[in-house]
Amino acid sequence: KAVVHWFKSDLRTRDNRGLERASEKAREEGVPLIAMYIVSPQDWEAHLTAPVRVDFILRTLEVLRGDLERLDIPLYVETVEKRKEIPGRILELLGEWEASHLFANVEYEVDELRRDAGLVRACLERGMAMDVLHDTCVVRPGELVSGVGRQYSVYTPWFRAWVAHIHKDPTLLDLLGEPHKNPDTARQKYAKLFETTIPSAPDNKKLSDEEKKRFRSMWPAGEHEAHERLRRFLEERIGEYQELRNFPGEQGTSSLSVHFASGTLSARTAIRTAQDYNTTKKLDGGKEGIQTWISEVAWRDFYKHVLAHWPYICMNKPFKLEYTNIAWEYDDDHFAAWCSGKTGYPIVDAAMRQLNHCGWVHNRCRMIVASFLAKHLLLDWRMGERYFMEHLVDGDFASNNGGWGFSSSTGVDPQPYFRIFNPLLQSEKFDPEGEYIRTWIPELRGVDDNKAIHDPYGRGMATEAREKGYPEPIVDHKESRDRCLARYKEGLGRE
Ligand code: FAD
Repeated sequence: KAVVHWFKSDLRTRDNRGLERASEKAREEGVPLIAMYIVSPQDWEAHLTAPVRVDFILRTLEVLRGDLERLDIPLYVETVEKRKEIPGRILELLGEWEASHLFANVEYEVDELRRDAGLVRACLERGMAMDVLHDTCVVRPGELVSGVGRQYSVYTPWFRAWVAHIHKDPTLLDLLGEPHKNPDTARQKYAKLFETTIPSAPDNKKLSDEEKKRFRSMWPAGEHEAHERLRRFLEERIGEYQELRNFPGEQGTSSLSVHFASGTLSARTAIRTAQDYNTTKKLDGGKEGIQTWISEVAWRDFYKHVLAHWPYICMNKPFKLEYTNIAWEYDDDHFAAWCSGKTGYPIVDAAMRQLNHCGWVHNRCRMIVASFLAKHLLLDWRMGERYFMEHLVDGDFASNNGGWGFSSSTGVDPQPYFRIFNPLLQSEKFDPEGEYIRTWIPELRGVDDNKAIHDPYGRGMATEAREKGYPEPIVDHKESRDRCLARYKEGLGRE
């Protein structure tokens, strides 16, 4: 007999609701706990998971295996090629292990919900139980409704309700410990499971040796690293978060998104720990940096609530269905220039090159390049959404879709369509000295004029830029702006 916890995007031992319940159940029944992770190359393909993210997950599994082993809990890892075969294989494994109970945390994307609903039924039919826990959000989706009983689609009132809800029930921020140690007999009984190895990445997700070296030094994996990063950020940098968070050239943000996305850090732990650093011990009072950071982490909850309530956003549809009829340009050359950071707009190019080099790019820059793609280039925002998923180490469907919806004005609580970021003004405001641009665009490093760096061809540095091979702007700002306004209006059927 045994109890099983199925790890998905919750790759940590501490403060993990599904794992904690599984551990309690195992102790109650006096049976061992087995942990399991299913690698599905087809799932990674379908979800466009970036190779850098796959590598991060596989490295995290090594750390997780070590942590569980200290508690005599085996982490069994198996590759199941086809995603539709996952539930069947899990049922077989449960049978082999004579498991009475399976635990897991919910993933709110449509395919995952369907898969888990089917598995709950199949377990019941076989006399086993499957418990699926809400864990990834601090407040579970569906809990917060507006005055008229509806899911919020605007962040600010949602955030007020979110804060009030947690203040009313502070136990939502109670943190859970590690699972109990398994009985001594587990090691012997499950000796084979303790021997499983973590597979290497499937061929289409493999990194080159150079990429491995680069990404591994940037993104150390695992739960301990996540806690250490959180601690350092709270002790050393959160005080300046409010001031610096919008400047991509500064190290103003936490860089914790990769840990939230793979579940090496829970949002609960992050918010609770940040709140404990605050003098007021409140979510929306006290030190400004802490308050603001908590409200940013809350965006992640918000977008997951939106996803859970409006699942059609998983099906390639814009949240605002009236934006379905915009006639996008499908210009391959423009898309290629955007992807490779060769649009001739330095701030856009710097951001895309940072994304390609690091698998991560600053939030301000994500907004600038997303707006540029959808509005200046009038390319279908889904092309950009896809490219981001294929390259981000922190790729998360709900946040990525939310960010693209915001920037292209087609999503929940978006920028109004007529607000079109001016890349030049954004660049001057958020990279005033041009340091960020010089870091990512070697061709412009020699431009020492802090005005010209934002627009070398328009501000007297054309010869230098051309000599170094930096491209001219692929579109004109004013013309693109006018084209965008006209096209959006036309799509919306407005005069
Ligand atoms: P911090 O500023 O330290 O924020 C702390 C945490 O709060 C982040 O780690 C993240 O979990 C959460 N957060 C902050 N801002 C947002 C936001 N706008 N939306 C949702 N959560 C937020 N974030 C992802 O995690 N995965 C994505 O795939 C993703 N795609 C995006 C695409 C676009 C077009 C845009 C505009 C934003 C996207 N974001 C995404 C949100 C945001 O850019 C990143 O979470 C942030 O840059 C991560 O850096 P950080 O951890 O240093 O952030």
